[in-house]
Amino acid sequence: MADDAPILSNPQALNSDGLGCHSGKDKMLEAAKAAGKSITLEQYAKDYPKGPHDQPQSMCPAFGSLRVGLRMRRTATVLSGSACCVYGLTFTSHFYGARRTVGYVPFNSETLVTGKLFEDIREAVFKLADPVNYDAIVIINLCVPTASGVPLQILPKEINGVRVIGIDVPGFGVPTHAEAKDVLAAAMLRYARSEAEAGPVQAPRGGISAKPTITLLGEMFPADPVIIGMMLEPMGLAAGPVVPTREWRELYSALDCAAVAAIHPFYTASVREFDAAGRKVVASAPVGHDGTEAWLQAIGQATNVSQALIDAAKNRFLPAIKGALAKMPIKGRITLSGYEGSELLVARLLVESGADVRYVGTACPQTKWSDPDREWLAAKGVHVQYRASLEQDIAAIREFQPDLAIGTTPVVQYAKERKTPALYFTNLISARPLMGPAGAGSLATVINAAMANRDRFLAMDEFFEGVGKGDNAGVWEELPKARPEFRASYAKKMEKARKASKVEEPI
Ligand code: SF4
Repeated sequence: MADDAPILSNPQALNSDGLGCHSGKDKMLEAAKAAGKSITLEQYAKDYPKGPHDQPQSMCPAFGSLRVGLRMRRTATVLSGSACCVYGLTFTSHFYGARRTVGYVPFNSETLVTGKLFEDIREAVFKLADPVNYDAIVIINLCVPTASGVPLQILPKEINGVRVIGIDVPGFGVPTHAEAKDVLAAAMLRYARSEAEAGPVQAPRGGISAKPTITLLGEMFPADPVIIGMMLEPMGLAAGPVVPTREWRELYSALDCAAVAAIHPFYTASVREFDAAGRKVVASAPVGHDGTEAWLQAIGQATNVSQALIDAAKNRFLPAIKGALAKMPIKGRITLSGYEGSELLVARLLVESGADVRYVGTACPQTKWSDPDREWLAAKGVHVQYRASLEQDIAAIREFQPDLAIGTTPVVQYAKERKTPALYFTNLISARPLMGPAGAGSLATVINAAMANRDRFLAMDEFFEGVGKGDNAGVWEELPKARPEFRASYAKKMEKARKASKVEEPI
């Protein structure tokens, strides 16, 4: 939020109907730059390089930031954006069990154009800033307020002791909801770092750890940090907080660590904050036998632990991991795709369990923090696709004809239409431990059960035989007819209207 933005909003952002993640990306981007958001957007372009798809293919990216805010204690999260976007984001938050209020400052063309929206946000923040209830207030500019330059960066940094953090999270600048988590996590780390540099800060709730700690970067299954802590113990280390944190004071202990484990590899801006705090960052995660061995070695070296202690940790845990993997084998061909950032780690576990994994697609970009996983998978003949598009994920199913497809909702839907058993990555795979001995074998039960289900898909396919496909799915007295001529004439009208509005645009 270092932009030196003009306080004026940019009314051009609303000059056309229907701008949003589904259309108008270039106009929004241009408008945002013209409205003083260039520095923020250029930084996003560096941190989150685009891929084959340069606009969201999954949920609204802002959901990542919203979720991080909603999961923190004593934190109010407020959205500034179009009502339809806010409706979708609020719905998704509650679908995922937020159980917290999502704040909203509504706007209309007039309040946006006159700058009154910014005044409304300012008033809302002052009303909310009660230190009895809150440590921090997060305000998130969605697409239209970002495009029109609503200058959250000039809000007071603190009101009555409550920190105020304003961020822009437009779909035309932040490609995935994973990276939007990084936007807010980094903004909070930056704020907390400046507080720690200025003087004493609050201690962690459970007191300061007697051992040097490893901060864990990336949301994970609740048992995973505990398992990681057990594996660190023989090296005289302890697991530190998970970032994004659940409480403001944890940010200080996250920064005050011996090293950072980039368990999820897409936290580019957060890593920058740890770099600035002088912390070493270690790639990959302790998954499976090989992954755990390499990770324990890398963590030990980054924290100057003796080789004898690193070996002690390995000797204690590696045989157990090997045993658990051998006990729960997975047999079958699998394609895997997702947008969580842990796709490569899951693929490693599957390969070590015996599965024939051919393709891993992740919506996240390539960073050096997943290099060890990419190299390991490539050596096993697995194709890794960063910034994978839905089309690439689907092409992989067509090409490799897996016994099981693990993926996002549309990928799973496609697989099921082909009578291929499929599992949702987010709900069924992310909701299990992955690390160390607990992770080894944890996926086998659900995966083997799903693969054994092919006969049910065949029976269902037979049952639904003849109910049609696409626009014709269902039971009809008369099948709907395609009307390409209507589409063509509508497209012509739209083009005419577009040309007319261009002529009328003010110079
Ligand atoms: S805020 Fe999200 S839902 Fe709204 S237009 Fe932008 S990307 Fe789409």
